[in-house]
Parts: sequence; structure tokens; C-alpha cells
Amino acid sequence: MKKRFLHLDFKGIVPGPDRIEEYLRCFRQCGFDGLVLEFDCRVRWKSWPGAGMPVYSAKEAAGLVRLAEFLGFETIPLMQVQGHLEWLLGEDAYAHLRENGTLTLCPSHPEAAERLAAWMTELREIFPNSRYIHLGADEVAHIGECPLCRARIEGGETKFQLYASHVEKLCLAAEKLNFRPLVWGDMLLHEADPAGAARSLPQSTVIVDWKYWGRGPFGSTEKLRKSGHEVWGASGVQCAWYEHFRQILPFYEDRLENILGWNEFNGTVIHTTWGRSGNKYALYPPWLMSLPLFVAAGDPEKWAVHPWRKKIEDLSRLLRRALEFELVRVPGNIRSWPASCRLEEESREYIALGVEFQMLVNRLLEIEADHAAQLASCRFVGIDRETMMRDLADAPADLKRKVAELLPRLGQVFDRNGLTGKEEFLAEFSSQFRRLDNVRPLELP
Ligand SMILES: [Zn+2]
Repeated sequence: MKKRFLHLDFKGIVPGPDRIEEYLRCFRQCGFDGLVLEFDCRVRWKSWPGAGMPVYSAKEAAGLVRLAEFLGFETIPLMQVQGHLEWLLGEDAYAHLRENGTLTLCPSHPEAAERLAAWMTELREIFPNSRYIHLGADEVAHIGECPLCRARIEGGETKFQLYASHVEKLCLAAEKLNFRPLVWGDMLLHEADPAGAARSLPQSTVIVDWKYWGRGPFGSTEKLRKSGHEVWGASGVQCAWYEHFRQILPFYEDRLENILGWNEFNGTVIHTTWGRSGNKYALYPPWLMSLPLFVAAGDPEKWAVHPWRKKIEDLSRLLRRALEFELVRVPGNIRSWPASCRLEEESREYIALGVEFQMLVNRLLEIEADHAAQLASCRFVGIDRETMMRDLADAPADLKRKVAELLPRLGQVFDRNGLTGKEEFLAEFSSQFRRLDNVRPLELP
């Protein structure tokens, strides 16, 4: 049966255990049938002592799962088995598991599969009722580089076989725990014959084709389906979008195109909400940014008549045009959008602050470009000292003041909503304004 799952990645900004219920109820109202929960580094795992940045105890995580199931969600745990274990492999205590010193797991290390199986058992305790487990297994950056793995390659195995035999082991471990395994499809799609590559995994394995850009159907999904495996799709509600490092809002139209396209897919879809691109990358914004996208992902029919639909589409266009005279009235308008619950009120406020922030980023780009242009034009037409002082001394100082005024207001959103990561988020997104220090009035002869 075709189902819609919402994936939540806890390595990013999350509400604490005492604040999660409001979100779960909201996600259920959005129309999702299930949750794919990637606790990642946010639980202190017994299997990986000393690693992680925990926010939830194992008991609190189990409580979250129980609550989700009580609300009617099917739950699926997501663990990683080779790539994207940076949170763990970055620790000295686990350095021996690194593939040739990188933050990818070595599949040939005798401890590797055994320790992952122990972690899976721990997940089984937190998810006693789940039918599936997602094993990740995407974006494995380093394969066959360490002496143990190189020896296997010299013995005739391919890099893909090194990967697939490891994933297969974990699929079988999952089945022993009565989980049906899911894996991401990208590593299979890198092979010349993706269907043949998929067949090296147990037949019960569900392959998930994640495509976060553009509108499906995607040829890759059909290629994977030729293997005979069940194939699900995955959209990107929050993912690595190109403008991420300078925007605290996405271009909503891109996300909507992708989400709504996947919702037309004849099969089960996981709508993914990533917290970061990887453990060692900057945070993505809080879920409040994506509330309208959750509505679109959970139930496109509800979205079609949602009072924010047209407003979000207009906002996205204005953000892309990046014209201050158009954007200046937008935050005030957003604050008057109708809101049917507290989370919608908070989302509305976050989006309004996001537009205010974006205007400051646009101003930063303008000032930098102006600086460069004045440097060029002074050779041709000279400089008007008064204009230069206004543009390259007063404007940067004014912008710095505005940034300093906005950041605490953004911080209040984190405080009011019990969100983790406030200090990091503000530091990462305000770091771009440090470039203002390079803008100085030109030295005139
Ligand atoms: Zn290795």
C-alpha cells in the first residue's frame, strides 16, 4: 500500500523531549502515515559509549516512539552502517574503525558488523513494534583504501562487493531481529547495472530512491525497480539546498516542486527532513521553517486549499528576486497570515524573521559588490569621496548594527520553542557578515 512517511533527522536542531509532542501531533494532522526516526548522535547509545551529542536519553527516545505509535504513526528507525557515521568515527575511541583514517567505516574490520548489530539490538528495544529498519548505506565516500580492504581487492573482490557484502550482513542481522531492511539507492545507482547491483542484497530489502531536486518520475526509480526489489521514493523537505549557507529560508518553490512530484509516485514515499548535510556540517534551520512543506508532503489535497499556499508561492518568488523594495513589507504581511495553532504562529514568526535576515544578506552582497565596483571605476572616472564614505563606511556600520539587532530576536524563537542549537545556528549563519570587515573606504591619493 502506498504510504507517506516523514523522516526526521535528529542531528540538526530538535525540540527537546518535553517539547516534541506538539510536533508529533502536528505531523499527524498533516497526514503522514509514519515516521522514519534518525536519532543519530542525539541519543547516548550503550553500544557507542563516549560518542555523540545527546539530547534524548534512550528512555526518552523510547517514549517518543511509544507516543508516535499511540498517535497512529508507523515507526521506522534509521541507523547508518558505513558512511555518515562521522559523529562516531570522529572520536579517538573509534579511530580503529576508520577506513584508512577517514570518517567512513571500514567494512573489513572484525568489530564493524558486530558492533553495528549490537546497536541495531539497542534500536530494537526502542522500536519494539517496527516492521522495518532503514540502514542508510548512502554516500559511502571511501571504499577499499585501508590495508585490510586493499587485500580483499587484490584477492579479486570489487569495491562494490566490499560495500554490498557489508550491507548484506547488516540486512541479515536486521532480519534476525525481525526487521525488514531498507537502504538508500544511490550507491547502487553509481554502478553500471543498478538492478544487478541491487540483486546482491537480500530480496526482501526495500531500496529507497532519494531524489531531492526536480519533479519525478525519475528514470533512476525505474532502473532500481528492474531488480525486482520493492522501491520507495524519497523527497527533500529540508536538504542541502544551494543557497543554504547564506539563507535561513529555502526557495519554497523548489521544495514544493520536489515534494508534490513525489506525492504523485505510485508507491511509498519518505519525505526527508535533514538536520545537517553531515555531522561535521553547519546546521539547517529548525522544522518551523518547513511547516508549510510538511502540509504539502503529508497531504497535497490539504495543501491545495491551505491559506498559506499562494502566500508561500509568492514569497518564494520575491526571495529569488531579492529586491529590497519588494521584500520590505513582506515580514509585516507574514505576521498577519492566519494561524490555526501555536506551531503555525511560531512558523509564521520564523519565516518573517527569515525574510528580515535575507534582506540583510542581500545588503551584504550589495555592499561587497559596490566595494569591488568602486575599486574598478576609480581608475576610469575617479571617486566622489562623499558617496564612497556613505557606501563603504556608513553602510557596513549600519548593516552590522542591524545584524546585531536581529540575532537576539532569532534566538528568542529557539528559547520560546525549547530548540537545541541556538548558539551554533546564530554563529554559523551570522558568520557571513564578517566579510564586512574587508570593506573599507578606498585610499585616495
Ligand atoms: Zn577497510
